[in-house]
Amino acid sequence: MASSTRSEAPEQEFDLVVIGAGPGGYVAAIRAAQLGLKTACIEREKALGGTCLRVGCIPSKALLESSERFAEAKHGIDEHGVVVKEVALDLARMLKRKDGIVGQLTRGVEGLFKKHGVTRLLGHGRLDGPGRVLVIEPDGKERVVAAKRVLIATGSAVATLKGVEMDGDRIGGSTEALSYPEVPQHLIVIGAGVIGLELGSVWSRLGAKVTVLEYLDRILPGLDVEVAQAARKVLTKQGLTFKLGVRVTGARVEGQECVVEAEGMEPLRGDRVLVAVGRRPYTEDLGLESVAITLDPRGRIPTDGYFQTKAPGVFAIGDVIAGPMLAHKASEEGVACVERMVTGAGHINYDAIPNIVYTHPEIASVGKTEEELKQAGTPYRKGSFPFVANGRAKALGTTDGFVKFLAHPETDRILGVHIVGPRAGDLIAEVAVAIEFGASSEDVARCVHAHPTLAEVVKEAALAVDGRPIHI
Ligand code: FAD
Ligand code: NAD
Repeated sequence: MASSTRSEAPEQEFDLVVIGAGPGGYVAAIRAAQLGLKTACIEREKALGGTCLRVGCIPSKALLESSERFAEAKHGIDEHGVVVKEVALDLARMLKRKDGIVGQLTRGVEGLFKKHGVTRLLGHGRLDGPGRVLVIEPDGKERVVAAKRVLIATGSAVATLKGVEMDGDRIGGSTEALSYPEVPQHLIVIGAGVIGLELGSVWSRLGAKVTVLEYLDRILPGLDVEVAQAARKVLTKQGLTFKLGVRVTGARVEGQECVVEAEGMEPLRGDRVLVAVGRRPYTEDLGLESVAITLDPRGRIPTDGYFQTKAPGVFAIGDVIAGPMLAHKASEEGVACVERMVTGAGHINYDAIPNIVYTHPEIASVGKTEEELKQAGTPYRKGSFPFVANGRAKALGTTDGFVKFLAHPETDRILGVHIVGPRAGDLIAEVAVAIEFGASSEDVARCVHAHPTLAEVVKEAALAVDGRPIHI
């Protein structure tokens, strides 16, 4: 609950106080310190790094890597002539490894703060009128700090669903699903978005039966339809069951079981439920009313496109404002925001933000989808090339998927690139740079790509825009 502003004199004064030490806040704090601002960062969790490092990007990728090794050892390695007689799962060790990586990285952020001279304030931060922030420490002690500028980077929290009784154990969100103490017999995932597919894949590979319930008639809303359809086929082959067009209306625990109810479907029973229906901006007890900031209808802090809120000297970035909820988007906004404060310039090209789903194969995209181009009436030419025609993909034994280029028919400027295939997340970096530089598909097609690499599929897809791929 937020209090009214207080009267005591501030204990310390800073040029910039950042609230929240996720990839948005901690990166902004470091950049601000590099630029010479006396900077503090308030974080209420002991470990720095936010959702991303503690319970998001990093632990999920650690489990995705480990579970993929397990699945490969179990099912995929004999075709390479490697015979593994017995494969056993040591889940406790897998989880410990994940926790170890999280610990190393969160301590790493602490080290970076020390190195760059960012003052770390442990506690809950609350705006306390113009130029003041209250820090409520874990023991309840309160102190006020003065801030010439405040940057809100409080991120997001898991979205809940009406009728779904999350008990933080059997029925939980992604945080619980990163630490199940045993492999579920039947995991029911609500939502076929990024989290549902990534964490659904983890537990499916480790042996769980996984059923994914999705409200829409497709998976991965927002991604290019052709890519999402291809991904669905591959993931279904891997053992995930998708039930599309299903609106979940309730879920509850009954003894050791969970029951999930949805419109037009018999109740479904499993032993764990992962609620993955999105995330909501997090602004609880932030004292926004003390500086007269009101939220938009989706609970986000409105900003002017340069991260400035309605309140003078108060800025906001990352998951708590509009735009995709991605760690790199939050970090880039943090950098652009503080650079603009100090130098007057700071900019992000929102058309060049890559988006990656770390399933196997990976799904990666940057720029516009075909559906977006059609809807906007933008003409385009399309070039696709499959991984099955690539030597390196064959050597890897991962040939599912393709690269698809969308380019303007007159200027040939790249409008969007969508990949489903091996290491798509790394391949997309080249095209993100190309889009940032305003490149054409011909530019990419004419660049030398080493042989044999997966990147040759990117080159061939760029050639295909002009109808001249070589290897197909
Ligand atoms: P956050 O990381 O949420 O950080 C906000 C911080 O503010 C938190 O540490 C919180 O404790 C703190 N805080 C909040 N309120 C206060 C307060 N009043 N006082 C003090 N501290 C406060 N994105 C990717 O790009 N790639 C991925 O692979 C990826 N994987 C993900 C996997 C999962 C399971 C989840 C849940 C998310 C994933 N994301 C991924 C999304 C990514 O984690 C977020 O987009 C990113 O963390 C947003 O950064 P942020 O700095 O805006 O907020
Ligand atoms: P999401 O928005 O990706 O997917 C949520 C899904 O739930 C949607 O498909 C939606 O249609 C469905 N849904 C909503 N209500 C439903 C209902 N009643 N019944 C059935 N289905 C329903 O959300 P998420 O997967 O929870 O991820 C949250 C955010 O975290 C995303 O915005 C994403 O950007 C970020 N994230 C990113 C990564 C990554 O970059 N690799 C990984 C994890 C999370």
